[in-house]
Amino acid sequence: MLDIRIEKTQNPKTLPEKDNPLVFGTIFTDHMFIMNYELGKGWFDPRIVPYQPIVLQPSAMVFHYGQEMFEGLKAYKTEDGRTLLFRPNKNWERVINTNRRICMPEIEEDVFVDAIKALVKIDEAWIPTKPGTSLYIRPFIIATDPFLGVRPSNTYQFIVILCPVGAYYPEGLNPVKIWIEDEYVRAVKGGLGEAKTGANYCASLKAQVKAHDEGYSQVLWLDGVERKYIEEVGAMNIFFKINGTIVTPVLNGSILPGITRKSVIELCELWGLPVEERKISVDELLDAAKSGALEEVFGTGTAAVISPVGHLRFEDTVFQVKDGGIGQISQKLYDTITGIQLGKLEDTLNWTVEVK
Ligand SMILES: *Cc1c(COP(=O)(O)O)cnc(C)c1O
Repeated sequence: MLDIRIEKTQNPKTLPEKDNPLVFGTIFTDHMFIMNYELGKGWFDPRIVPYQPIVLQPSAMVFHYGQEMFEGLKAYKTEDGRTLLFRPNKNWERVINTNRRICMPEIEEDVFVDAIKALVKIDEAWIPTKPGTSLYIRPFIIATDPFLGVRPSNTYQFIVILCPVGAYYPEGLNPVKIWIEDEYVRAVKGGLGEAKTGANYCASLKAQVKAHDEGYSQVLWLDGVERKYIEEVGAMNIFFKINGTIVTPVLNGSILPGITRKSVIELCELWGLPVEERKISVDELLDAAKSGALEEVFGTGTAAVISPVGHLRFEDTVFQVKDGGIGQISQKLYDTITGIQLGKLEDTLNWTVEVK
C-alpha cells in the first residue's frame, strides 16, 4: 500500500442536499490527492490534503504547450453500502499509453489505484446514493517546470479530485441528437487522438459550439484525412447496430480507446452477438439509415455509460434512427453495465474493485 501523508480538512463543507441536481463538474469534495515528480527522483510525497488551489509559476510549462493528461472514472455506492470502482486498472493502462505519447513519466499501477482508493475512502460520505448518481474521479497530470522552451518538463504534479455527479438521465435513458462534423477535425493518426489529453478537447471546442448553436448536443467526428470515416463522439465512442451486427470504428490511432467501449464489446461477444470493429464510412451509415438496416446507434463513455442516439445530421441531411427511441441492445447494455457498477448484478467478469 502506498504510504500517503494525510492532512484532513478543518472545515468540512456541508454535503449537497438530497435533491441537489449535482450538475457535472461543479461541486468538489473536501480533499484532493497530490504527488510530485522530479527527473532523477521519481514520484514523491504522495499526500491527501484539503481541496484547495494549487500554486504554479506563470511560466509553468502546462500553461504554454499543453503538456497535460487526464483520466475519468467513477465510484458507486451499492445498496448494501459498499463502494465500488469500475475497472480502474484499465484507466491505469490508458495512463501508461497517454503518458508515453506525451513524454510524461509513468506511474505504477498500485500507486495510481491506491491513490484513488485512499482519496475515495476519505471522502466516501460524498458518494451520492440517488439512482443514477455517482462520484466522478478526475486524476490528471500537469507539467510544472518554470520554462518557456519547448521540451518535455522535468517536473510534474499528479492530482486527483472528486465530484459528486447527478444522474446523466434523471428520467431514464433519453436519445440525443448528433451533429456529424465535416469541417473541423479532432485528431489525426500519429497525433494525440488515442491519448487522453486536454489538447484533444481544445481542438474540439469550435465544432461543439457550432453543433450546440444548431441545436445538437454532441459532435460526431470524421477521420481527419478523408473526412469520410466515422471516428467517435465528443467524449464517447460510437456503436451502430446494422442488420443485427454491432459495428464500431476500429481503433486506428486517432480514436480514444474507451473502457466503456471495451466493456460493451466484451458483453456483446459474451451474449453471442456478432461484433465488428472496422472502418465505417458516413456514406455506409446514410445508406443503412435509408434502407432501414440501421437499427440502433449509441455512444459509450464513463459519464453516460450508454447514450442512445435518436437523430443524426450530416450536412443538410437529417435522419432518424428507427423510431428515434431507445434500442433494445442499448437498453440491455445500459442495464447490465450499471447493474454491475451498482452491485445489483453479479460481477462475473470481475470488473469492479471494492474500496475498503
Ligand atoms: C474518455 C473518452 C472517451 C470514453 O472513454 P471511457 O473510458 O469509456 O470513459 C471517449 N472519447 C474520448 C475523446 C474520451 O476522452
